[in-house]
Amino acid sequence: MKKHNFSAGPCILPQEVLQKASEAVLNFNNENLSLIEMSHRSTAFVEVIEKARSLALELLGLENKGYKALFLQGGASMQFLMVTYNLLNKKAAYLNTGTWSDKAIKEAKMFGEVVEVATSKDKKFSYIPKGFTIPTDADYFHTTSNNTIYGTQIKDFPDFKGINVCDMSSDIFSRQLDFSKFDLIYAGAQKNMGPAGTTLVIIKEEILGKVEREIPSMLNYQVHLDKDSMFNTPSVFAVYTSMLNLEWLKDLGGIPFIEKVNNKKAALLYSEIDRNPLFKGFANKEDRSNMNVTFNLVDDSLKETFDTMWQDAGINGLNGHRSVGGYRASMYNALPLYSVQVLVDVMQELERKK
Ligand code: PMP
Repeated sequence: MKKHNFSAGPCILPQEVLQKASEAVLNFNNENLSLIEMSHRSTAFVEVIEKARSLALELLGLENKGYKALFLQGGASMQFLMVTYNLLNKKAAYLNTGTWSDKAIKEAKMFGEVVEVATSKDKKFSYIPKGFTIPTDADYFHTTSNNTIYGTQIKDFPDFKGINVCDMSSDIFSRQLDFSKFDLIYAGAQKNMGPAGTTLVIIKEEILGKVEREIPSMLNYQVHLDKDSMFNTPSVFAVYTSMLNLEWLKDLGGIPFIEKVNNKKAALLYSEIDRNPLFKGFANKEDRSNMNVTFNLVDDSLKETFDTMWQDAGINGLNGHRSVGGYRASMYNALPLYSVQVLVDVMQELERKK
């Protein structure tokens, strides 16, 4: 039996997607070739990447609105750098909501003035700062929609009239948003989209070409756009598997459908955390993430018993990030509601045992 996989990333993917992806490794599309041994310029693969690009835009409601989708490499971490390289002239504004925003800020500082509009560092990034001002002359404003490590999520995005950039690595395709409020969205695939090895970048083409510096080809969005995401060899397996996963999501009913499921999963687990006297949630209630649920035992002496119990129940990946400790249940799109019920049952069993 497959484990209940609460891993924060790389994370759970639908079993049928894994099945189709593994078949393609042996024989892709009845071509009598493996997907990973054929040319990325073959018609068969070009169709795959084009489909993946258009599905991403379609699911986000961004077709025919001046956006293009790219599948790049280097992870979301490379985007910390590419964003600044391509967009930062003088000044950029960043909202600091955790480790990943912090890392993005570090890269940006190499290219110009960075205004940290607000930070929640004072309380271990357990909340989303509100009520700050964003300098109107910033070249762009950068947010991290979901903080994978701390389990917080931005519910209302600040209204910045200029260019809005968002790292959506850990909640893209999980909830409905007006995605057209953003000019550049990026996401490492390995949370809600596919295996590690590719990064989705959604970009409004008109925002490019405004910096004076020379940009190395591999870091230049325009170069990748001009080559239809094929400037160099794409990560074929990761792109194909992402495409299968996006198809899976579309067939289910897209983001409106999966958001309802994700809300149910989150409500089930948070209500148990709030009810069960043995546990306490980490993140500020109004900022709680529906993707990564962070919580702690009130009494740490129960740790060994609880750890044995959830492991015996077939649960994987529940330990909190090494920098935070405690527990983190990551509930990406492919995690079934049933897996959350198994975790809740274990939490209730611990309460009965005590
Ligand atoms: N941003 C966020 C929100 C993340 O969760 C992560 C990875 N956990 C990253 C960026 C870095 O992604 P990558 O490992 O693909 O560089």
